[in-house]
Amino acid sequence: MYIRTRLALWFMLIIVVVLAAFSVAIYQLTHNNLLMEIQWDVQQRAAAIVKSATPGDSQTGLIVPKLDVFSTPDTYLQIYGPDGTVISSSVNLNSRTLPLMKDAIRAGQVKEIQVDGVPLYIYGEAVRQGSQLLGYVVVGRSVRTIYLALNRLQGFLYPSAAITLVLTGLLVWFLVWRAMRPLEKLAATASEIAVARDHTRRLQYKNTRDEIGRLTATINSMLQSLENAYRQVQDVNDKQRNFLADVSHELRTPLTIMLSSLDLIGRVGATDPEFQAEALADMRVEADRMARMVTQLLILARSDAGDTVARKPVLVSDVVQDACRQARQASNGTPLECEIEPLEGVVVSASPDYLKQLFLILLDNAVKYTPSGGHVTVTGNLNEGEAAITVADTGIGIAKADVPRIFDRSFRAENAHFRSGVGLGLAIARRIIDQHGGKIEVATELGQGSAFTVSLPLMNS
Ligand code: ADP
Repeated sequence: MYIRTRLALWFMLIIVVVLAAFSVAIYQLTHNNLLMEIQWDVQQRAAAIVKSATPGDSQTGLIVPKLDVFSTPDTYLQIYGPDGTVISSSVNLNSRTLPLMKDAIRAGQVKEIQVDGVPLYIYGEAVRQGSQLLGYVVVGRSVRTIYLALNRLQGFLYPSAAITLVLTGLLVWFLVWRAMRPLEKLAATASEIAVARDHTRRLQYKNTRDEIGRLTATINSMLQSLENAYRQVQDVNDKQRNFLADVSHELRTPLTIMLSSLDLIGRVGATDPEFQAEALADMRVEADRMARMVTQLLILARSDAGDTVARKPVLVSDVVQDACRQARQASNGTPLECEIEPLEGVVVSASPDYLKQLFLILLDNAVKYTPSGGHVTVTGNLNEGEAAITVADTGIGIAKADVPRIFDRSFRAENAHFRSGVGLGLAIARRIIDQHGGKIEVATELGQGSAFTVSLPLMNS
């Protein structure tokens, strides 16, 4: 059921109750007041006649004043002797008599009776002298006009209550419909937005200060958040798609090289053992590259999942030497020197696998972004409470504006695009450093080279 119909029905129900109570109250009040007035009148008249009645001689019994003085066209008076015979009547009674109701007289009650089809209020009083009963005074008054007036009041009250009810019901329905119209428009626009999935659309409503205006503003801000969230999800989806494409590409390159090496070994290897050894060494390098990549992706995934790193005491120089040895194999002739004597015997708390991957990332980059003719140097220093390892190259360098972004996922500087890559290496390196409580600094000059310095806290320092 529509809210407007519900509200109109509720309102009509309330009006019905109020009007009914109001009408009944008015009717009862008027009814009681008018009839009490008549009762009071007949009692007053009877008392006045009794007061003016005087005892007569034994024949006449009672001497009463002229009764018509006390009567009006609808007030009737009658005097009875003590034995119940009519002594005197007001002229308007003609030949009719008012009943003598001794019980009601004794009880001092006003009774309603019908005389010739006319409703009368009857009241009687006994006239006494001392203990002697002289007679009765009976006063009757017609209440026909009162009943006619009450009927007319009833005939007016109930239809007008019914008309008021219908009119206010219609008025309420109309007012609620008008108040609800903007809501219906909002609902229609909102469902259009939902169907069209157009998150850029907004609801329109002119009066911004009323309740509907506030509701519109709230829905619009929800739509804004929805649009932002939708954009973010799209962004993440795009990034993930690109990331997947890049990673697949990166993994495919070494795989292609390995497959073609295998082909060549199959064809030429048997007759040329020297070639075979060379091809196997190449394959080893590519397989290493792939394994490194997969390991680094795994580190990233574990760190995304919030896994903690299991650390143990590690001789930092061993890890660095190991990484240098491995990087040298894939350095394509770029000289790579490793001078870390000051770190001999220095122990840090670390995961040796993670630490090795960290240095491999830095060394890979240094080799990758150093064109032929340049060289890479690794130096180690023992500073206060920490071991500092610097991987320096004489390569392309990084523009100042790009330095703050190189640790972001998927970021690759403009000048780096001559080499393949997915922009994940330094993001993984930063994670590993953070997990080990260390820090990394970059000193670089565009076209001159870069130096990445990793500082790790010493064990027990
Ligand atoms: P990738 O090397 O796959 O692009 P990285 O996260 O390892 O991703 O590096 C991010 C970016 O930082 C690189 O694209 C490059 O622009 C810059 N960069 C990193 N190391 C060096 C370096 N040694 N010399 C010059 N630029 C570098």
